Parts: sequence; structure tokens; C-alpha cells
Amino acid sequence: MCNQHSFLEGLMSHGLLLDTGVDGLYGRGGGFEDVVARFDALITSFGGGDGAEVVRFPPGMNRKLFEKSGYMKNFPQLAGSVNSFNGDDKQHARLLDKIECREDWSADLAATDIVLAPAACYPLYPTVAKRGALPEQGRLFDLNSYCFRHEPSKDPARMQMFRMREYVRLGTPGQVTEFRATWLERGRALIEKLGVPFDVDVANDPFFGRAGRMMAASQRDQNLKFELLIPIESVEKPTACLSFNYHQDHFGSLWGIATSAGEVAHTACVGFGMERVALALFKHHGFETKAWPAAVRAALWG
Ligand code: ATP
Ligand code: ZN
Repeated sequence: MCNQHSFLEGLMSHGLLLDTGVDGLYGRGGGFEDVVARFDALITSFGGGDGAEVVRFPPGMNRKLFEKSGYMKNFPQLAGSVNSFNGDDKQHARLLDKIECREDWSADLAATDIVLAPAACYPLYPTVAKRGALPEQGRLFDLNSYCFRHEPSKDPARMQMFRMREYVRLGTPGQVTEFRATWLERGRALIEKLGVPFDVDVANDPFFGRAGRMMAASQRDQNLKFELLIPIESVEKPTACLSFNYHQDHFGSLWGIATSAGEVAHTACVGFGMERVALALFKHHGFETKAWPAAVRAALWG
């Protein structure tokens, strides 16, 4: 396998990713977007029959709800906030001076009501909570959103802005664990069609700090998170391309979501890293989609 730098350069020289001058922030070429769109359709061919409610949130979320979500406690290093200018003419002149002199002008901005969504499902839970108790069969959602995580890297598979498709299940522990078990199987079957090597393993989220290390260990011990890993930049450290998360009653109790029987709802989600899967395909089958194996082309383009 070639090293990180040359894979990224190859993606750029083939017009698949476009350089913006910031690591992890790329434009996407038409060929790249076509693969993302075809993979999106492949996901729907596996999950579309389940009757999920389709919801699309923009890549920003309500700051107040984000504060309540606990994200800043667990992942402050990844968060992004939208700030804007609301000063007067004098303050505006000072701001322009600072930009002209290449000084730091961030203190001249103030926080807006919006932060960047760190995962597609974050804005969903408070929205569902407002509807009251779940129906007897629980609820199932189909989400897709650009997400932001401040993790600049030369590894093209570690982006700062990327798309996450998710199915999110809310219900009784039985309904939710059955959903996750089904998707662990479907996830394997889906990626098998793409002709790339993969493995499924237990995982943990990158919780911040010393307390975070304990949370990560406990998450692993309880098998709450699995990842489907595909080697993209390195064989030794394959990349998480799909995640299967069981949150137990964490979001249910945080947001006050009840089952029809009045118990605290459990939740689980399956997340698909749209860019990561596209990158895995380009890595293993080459930059020219027309030259990809016939079976892979058939799975994607039919
Ligand atoms: P990693 O362990 O690689 O940091 P993660 O555990 O943070 O990944 P999740 O929080 O489960 O990933 O996010 C859901 C999905 O979003 C992942 O399975 C992955 O495919 C995708 N994803 C996560 N972070 C990134 C990123 N920086 N760039 C591109 N895709 C990402
Ligand atoms: Zn991550």
C-alpha cells in the first residue's frame, strides 16, 4: 500500500478530492460524489424496507440542546461552534484592521445559537422527545448529514467535515438490541458486495481526558460499540467505516424519552461513513471506477 501522502495526492490528481488548503476539508469531484450516491442507494436497498422515517437535519444544531447533550463533557476536542460578528461600525473597523494585520480576530466574534453537528443523530433525540412516549413498536429513523469534528489530518479518511448516514432505533431493550444485531449482519453483507477486505471488532469512542479513559474501557467491556474496519491508510490500523452503537438508556433518560409502557427508552444507531467507504473503494479498486471489478460495479451501478 502506498503511504498516506500519496493516496491523498492520487485522489487530488484524479479530481476526486479538491484541495482547500486545510487538512481534512476537501471539495468533492463528480466521480467521488457518484460513488457516494451509489453507496447511499446500496444502503437503502438493505434498510429501505424497514419503514424508517426519513429526516434530514442541516449540519448545524441548536446550541442549547448541544449543551444539554453532554458532548462538551466527553468530546470537547472535536467540537465546533458557529460564531458571528454583531458589533457596531467602530468594532467593524477594528475587526478589518486585525484581519489586514493578520492578527487573531476571533475574539471580535460572538457565539450564535448554532453549533456544528458532531454526528447525524445528535439533533434527533430532543426532536423525538417532544413527540411524547414512543408507540408500541418504537421508532426508526433514517438520517444523513454533514458532520464536523476537529481532527485535522493528512489521512484523507479522517476529515473535519464528512457525511454520516444513520439508522437510529428507539424502543425497548429487546427492540433496540435486535436492530443492532440485524445491522451487524447486514453491514457485513453490504460491504462484502464491495469486494474490499474488512473486519468487525469491538471499539470505543475517543472520550476526553482521564475520566474518559475509564468511560472508554467500560464501553468496551460492555460491547456497546462495534466497528466495521477496512484498511485504507494502513493495514495495521484499519479505518472504522461503519459503527454499530448501543447507547442503552443514555439518550432516553437524558432527553426524557419513554416507551409505550412508560419505561425509559433504549436507543441504538448504525452509522455509515460515506466518504470513508468511497475512499476504501478507491483504495482497493483504483482511481478509475470504470476499471473496478464487474461484481462491484454491478452492486453499485446495477
Ligand atoms: P474513529 O475511531 O476512526 O475516530 P469514530 O469512532 O469517531 O471513528 P463514530 O463516532 O462512530 O466514529 O462515527 C460514525 C461513523 O462516521 C464512523 O463509523 C466513520 O465511518 C465516520 N467518521 C467518523 N469520524 C470521521 C472522520 N473524521 N472522517 C470521516 N468519517 C468519519
Ligand atoms: Zn472519530
